[in-house]
This record gives sequence, structure tokens and C-alpha cells, in this order.
Amino acid sequence: MKTHTEYEEMLPFYAAGGCTSQQKREMEAHINLCHECQTELTMWKAVSMEIDTSNKTISTPSDIPAQALTRIRASKPMAAAIRQSWQLLKAQTYLIQSELWPVSALVMLIGVLVAVIARKDVVVYLLSPMMAAATLSMLYGPDHDPANELTRSTATSPWKILLARMSIMSCYNLLLGLIASLGLLFIVKPEMLGTIILGWVGPLAFLSSLALLLSVWWGTGIAIAVTYGLWLAQYISFKSIGILMPSPVWSNFLTEYKNFWHEPLLLVGLAFFVALAALWSANLPMLRLSSSIQ
Ligand SMILES: [Zn+2]
Repeated sequence: MKTHTEYEEMLPFYAAGGCTSQQKREMEAHINLCHECQTELTMWKAVSMEIDTSNKTISTPSDIPAQALTRIRASKPMAAAIRQSWQLLKAQTYLIQSELWPVSALVMLIGVLVAVIARKDVVVYLLSPMMAAATLSMLYGPDHDPANELTRSTATSPWKILLARMSIMSCYNLLLGLIASLGLLFIVKPEMLGTIILGWVGPLAFLSSLALLLSVWWGTGIAIAVTYGLWLAQYISFKSIGILMPSPVWSNFLTEYKNFWHEPLLLVGLAFFVALAALWSANLPMLRLSSSIQ
């Protein structure tokens, strides 16, 4: 037996003719005995009649199908692609871990303050590629994306999502680097600004794509460890820490290695290919070893 409240909740459906024949029989039996439901039924019948009459006054414009067809035929593939990319970028901006934005900005701000106080512009050069690598290594994968499984089940391929996130984050990192460089104007001459920016842009591009690739392969921890190791290795003075390398081959290699980080064109070029590899890897199923351990 249903309670009065249950019948009361079903009244709108009953009035609109949306009940099964079984429900209808039960309903009628209850209404016959329940005065409250009788009153409410009158009200619901009036409502449904009102909706019915007002619906009848609305007529469909006859040219709707024609209008839709013209719009479909007129849509330019280029415009559609741009619109889709824009939508993807917008959607992915919300999905990137929200704490990445303020945290990286804060770290860069501290970096600029340290650089200005210590009068060492190298701090920004050192910091911006590391910051970029860290953010890019946290962009993708089940550890950082609560909706990862959901995303994987959608029609948008993983590489497109990764590309969208990579573009958003890289633009943000570039912007942070530029703002940080402007902050250096307190201690450097304006004509030095170009050299400073050119100094970090190459390493930033290369380290970010490398971090992205490594994070797709092995996860964030390894991506950060390897990229930071490679980046900071140029500052290790092997002579001062007592590892004296007598071999000229080794010392040549170290010099070359330091020079490598000062080749913006080479670094950006390499970054492009590493990023392609990351996008390609993102599309391979089951590549992430760390995700299967959880
Ligand atoms: Zn009732």
C-alpha cells in the first residue's frame, strides 16, 4: 500500500496521463477515498489544460529544416576547426590542476625578488625552465587528472587534450618568464632584456617538452628528477668537488654540455620533436607504467 504522500507526488503524472494502467487503477482507488488528493487533482488538471492550450498557440516556423541545412552547408571547415580548438582550450583550462597557476606565479615572484635583492639576474634564468618543467610534468595522467578515465572515453583523442593543455601551460609559463624578466629591469639595463629572455626561452622550451614526455612515460617524479638533474648538471663544478677529470674528452664534453644550454634555436627545435614524441606517446594505451601500479 502506498502512502498519501506517494500518491500526492504522482498526481501531476496522473493528471498529464503519464501513469501505467496499474498505477492508474491504484490512483483512482485512492482519489475516491482521499479528499485532499481530489482537490489537488483539480488543480493539476487545470495546469495541464493551461499548458496544452498555450502549446497549441505556438506554431513551428516552416523554414526550420531549410535554415539548418543552409547553416550546415555554409559552415567552413577552417572556421569549425578553430571553433573546436577554442572550445577544447577553454575546457582544458578548467581541468588543469588549479593550484598550478598561483603556485608557479608565486615561485617566480620569489625568484624575481631574490634576483633583485641579490642583484643576480641568473636566478630568473635558472628558475623559469625549472618552473616550466615542473608544471608540464603535472599536466597529464591519472595522478593529476580526476577525470582521466572519463576523458579517455570521449571522442577527443588524448593527444589533442595533451596538446591543448601543453599550449595553455606553455603560454602561461612564457608569460611568467616575460613578466619575471621585466622585473629584472630593477637591476639590469633595458638593452640587456633581449639577451636575458633569449637565454631562458630555449632551455624553458626544451625542458618543458622533455618533462612532458617523461611524465607521459614514467610519471611526474621521474620527469622532474631527470629534467632538474640535466638542467643543474651544467652548474656542477666537477673540479671543485674533487672529481678531477684528467681526460680531455670529458672536459670537452662538459664545455659542450654547457654550450648546449645556450643554443636557443637548437633547443627550441629539439623541444618541438620531443613534444611530438610526447603527443604520440599519449595516444598509446597502457604506456604509463606507474599508473598500473596504483
Ligand atoms: Zn491522498
